[in-house]
Order: sequence, then C-alpha cells, then structure tokens
Amino acid sequence: MAVFVVAACSAGSSPSSTPPATSTLADTTAPPTTIAATTVPPATDPPTTVPAGTTTAPTTTAAATTTTTADVSMAGMVVVIDPGHNGKNAEHPDEINRLVDIGNGTKACNTTGTQADDGYPEAAFNWALALATRDALEELGATVVMTRRDNDGWGPCIDQRAAIGNEAGADAVISIHADGGPATGRGFHVIHPAPIPGLTDDIAGESRALAEALLLAFPGSGMPVADYVGSDGLSERSDLGGLNLSDVPAVFLEVGNMKNASDIALLEDEGFRSKAAGAITAALVDFLTG
Ligand SMILES: [Zn+2]
Repeated sequence: MAVFVVAACSAGSSPSSTPPATSTLADTTAPPTTIAATTVPPATDPPTTVPAGTTTAPTTTAAATTTTTADVSMAGMVVVIDPGHNGKNAEHPDEINRLVDIGNGTKACNTTGTQADDGYPEAAFNWALALATRDALEELGATVVMTRRDNDGWGPCIDQRAAIGNEAGADAVISIHADGGPATGRGFHVIHPAPIPGLTDDIAGESRALAEALLLAFPGSGMPVADYVGSDGLSERSDLGGLNLSDVPAVFLEVGNMKNASDIALLEDEGFRSKAAGAITAALVDFLTG
C-alpha cells in the first residue's frame, strides 16, 4: 500500500514556504539514533599505501581503479553512511510527508523510495549495501555511523539525517540510494551539492571531490556510469535536504537504476553489493588519504 511511491528516488516536489521546522526525535516510534560503531580497534596496519596514480579521468566503461585498500588504515576517520528511505516509510504517511526545512525551502521529511518491477524495494537495497559498506570500512579501522538502525521503521527525516553527519563530525557522508529511472537507462551517478551561498558553499568543493573519487572507483563494481541522467556520472543539485543541511562533505550515490533489467540484476546480487562496498571504500580511502 505504497500510496506515495515516487518514481525517482531522490527527486521529488519541493514545496516551499513553510517556516523552518525544528524537528526532534521525540515523536518517532523508531528513534533514529546514531548507531555509532563502537570503538574501533587500534590501527596496527602500516601506513597508507594508496597508489597515487589513480586520478586519471573517469571513463564510461569499467575503468577499475587499482586502488587497493588491503594495507590502508582508516583509524580516526569518521564516515557516516546514510541508507536512503526506510522499510516502513509507506506505513507512516503523516510522519514522512511532514514538511521540514532544507535551508532554501521545505521538503517532505522522507519518501518511500522507488522499487524494482519485481517489488524489491529501494530501501531494502540501500540498507543491504549500507551494511556491506559499513563492514568494509570498519575492517580498515574507520568509525562508521549509520543514520538508521534497521530497515523496519520509518525516517529519520532528511534534516535529522544531515544533523547526524554534522554531530558526528564526519569526514565524509555518503547517502546510498538507487534510482527509478527510465527502463532504458543504465548506470550509477553521484549527486553533489551546488554551492549555495551561506548554506553549502563551504562544503561544495570537498563534496565534489568526494563525488569524483566515487566516479573513479565505482565502475570497479561492474556498474557503468549512468547514461540517462546527470553529466558523465555527476549531478549537482540544490534541492536535497541531506546535502543542503550538511556541514561536512556529503554526496548521494545513486547506485543504479532499479527499473533497468541489467542494473537490477546487479543490485539484487549480493556479490555485486560486496564489490560495490569495496568500491565505495576505495573511493573513501582515496578521498580521505589521497
Ligand atoms: Zn532514494
């Protein structure tokens, strides 16, 4: 009974003119607390050995980066993983349709996300990849904070998700999504914040650098660069609360198009998700230590 499934997962109407709503977590049934990864083991790995020569221009083919993360330590680095949407958002229309302030307007607290034609929900994919990515990062010693604790609740709202990244003092925030594009369109793209004066102008450059690191590394997962949206895999936007309200480098990774047969075959494959988690980790290593 998804009464408000949106076609594209992160796009959506952006109604305006409601006063800023200072939201709290108080009225949520599933408080979206930060699940701060507990203490990370001390780094015993040798110093970073990320190859320096991986900064060639990304191509639209699987130009797998040769970044190897095996000997890298991410100790002391804080990464916030934001799995988009939540598995029970559709059951809480009043809560997730509530407008929240996104800095340059207002937007719904959250949305249901898209889904594959076979019914596989975007929220479930986002959650599965977020877990795999968390594990890969923690293996390297990073401290990982998730913006939601499971896939069985609703929210948190987009402004709360941004606040989690800010309060964690994250070195990088990656929101994981999958798109609901035209069936003929393939591939991943990375959304980075436009430089909005007084809002995102302080993080736009670093966020773009994070997006470019993902653009370089992610084809290594086997997912090609998007051919139906954005510009060579990148998309700059000013209408996403999670980016607008971030005070730390933040991007949305739209991992693939759930409406495309080739993409969804990958998205539903655990082996792909493992490679995707590795590619995200390689990008973060490149961004944070490169
Ligand atoms: Zn989404």
